[in-house]
Amino acid sequence: MYSLKERYDVIIVGTGVAGLNCALNLPRDKRVLVLCKSKITDCDSYLAQGGICRLRNEGDYDSYYEDTMRAGHYENNPAAVESMIKGSQEVIADLVSLGVEFAREEDGSFAYTKEGGHSFPRICYHEDSTGKEITTTLLSAVRKLDNVELAERVTMLDLIADGNECFGIVVLDNASGEVHKIFGDYTVLATGGLGGAFGNTTNFGILKGDALAVCIDRGVAVDRINYIQVHPTSLYSKKRGRRFLISESVRGEGAYLLDKNFNRFTDELKPRDVVKDAVFAQMKKDGTKHVWLDMRHIPAEKIASHFPAIVQRCKEEGYDVFTECIPVVPAIHYFMGGIRSDLKGRTTMSRLYAVGETCCNGVHGKNRLASNSLLESLLFAKRAAQDITSVYSPAESEGESAAVASLDMDKYKNPKKLLAKYRTQVRKAVKAASEGKDININYKEN
Ligand SMILES: Cc1cc2nc3c(=O)[nH]c(=O)nc-3n(C[C@H](O)[C@H](O)[C@H](O)COP(=O)(O)OP(=O)(O)OC[C@H]3O[C@@H](n4cnc5c(N)ncnc54)[C@H](O)[C@@H]3O)c2cc1C
Repeated sequence: MYSLKERYDVIIVGTGVAGLNCALNLPRDKRVLVLCKSKITDCDSYLAQGGICRLRNEGDYDSYYEDTMRAGHYENNPAAVESMIKGSQEVIADLVSLGVEFAREEDGSFAYTKEGGHSFPRICYHEDSTGKEITTTLLSAVRKLDNVELAERVTMLDLIADGNECFGIVVLDNASGEVHKIFGDYTVLATGGLGGAFGNTTNFGILKGDALAVCIDRGVAVDRINYIQVHPTSLYSKKRGRRFLISESVRGEGAYLLDKNFNRFTDELKPRDVVKDAVFAQMKKDGTKHVWLDMRHIPAEKIASHFPAIVQRCKEEGYDVFTECIPVVPAIHYFMGGIRSDLKGRTTMSRLYAVGETCCNGVHGKNRLASNSLLESLLFAKRAAQDITSVYSPAESEGESAAVASLDMDKYKNPKKLLAKYRTQVRKAVKAASEGKDININYKEN
């Protein structure tokens, strides 16, 4: 039953790491609503496998910076990269203080793993379920806060805005089909990626870029929306539905990519876009629907302890990773573009913030370096919360009234149709930004 209030101080749309960390860093005297479209656990943050980057020490700075820029084709925003790397130790310390358990060496120091594009191991991890470990820990911390309300199965349909100022959101209560207005002095969009708008994706299908479409409609600036990362290795399957990712850290720990004759054909640890292109080229040359990933030469105990979820999932699909190669194929994975935001999460609309994968502050450039995403989402969500705290002022009631008066409630009479329209808009906008070319993946789902 819908039990949300009509008014909060801050509304956060999205319960992934970005939304939760934003809520955790807001003052306790602010009434905060964090809502999501489906179940709380249906967000990509739960799926993150490989890990989260951490600057190991001052001597690692130049290398980490260069790796991030090189992976991003030097189209990254240098200030964002600097801020993210310098904030990485703070983020990991925050997580550890909340109870997140990362793999450790015998002496208690962090154990680091490596992924493509990294010159050195600098990725903290928790087996192959780092995202789940982080997100469940954040969630239990948020659940302890009296000032934060969590709501599942409530879908944002629109912003309530007057000109260039945001006063809240219009939502659909999925269960009853009712549409409601919720007012907030500040609104934070933490709505994740858009793989669900395209299919053949590692993302949850519900993540279709709704907020991106709403922002485009409302004249909020968006950037680089054709920058969509295709991950080189998802488990090939003829079944429909979300593609299961085979983390890059499997290659980081030594796995090989093999062609149809079981020969290596590329450097497995190049940045993702380079490896993805090599895989597609090999599939085309071989006339196959996948290539092979070989972990057989990696010590079995290492695979079992570092990648238990991958081992299990492959088993369910009929593959024993210890004795046979597994078929892998590229899949749409990550959105580098998004709603334009600065390093405090501010969008071009007053009182509206965007954090996490849905925003674009330019940190990833044209291609995200592995394991920079959880870090970016957590850090800039915290910065957004800090900014809201420092600039906080209640919204003016005249503006709010004008925003309500300008709402055409007929628009929400058929929410399903509206959401389908958003999906089409997202696909069209991405295509237009790609100068008429379809999204940069030349592989069609079976
Ligand atoms: C399989 C997989 C593995 C990954 N591995 C790694 C990794 O090892 N390291 C790393 O750094 N990154 C990894 N990533 C990327 C990383 O997980 C994500 O970029 C990050 O978790 C995004 O967090 P977020 O909070 O921005 O969004 P999400 O966690 O995706 O959350 C989005 C939220 O928005 C809500 N939402 C969306 N639209 C609406 C709407 N209209 N109304 C209401 N709510 C809405 C959803 O319900 C959800 O709660 C991986 C991603 C995938 C898919």
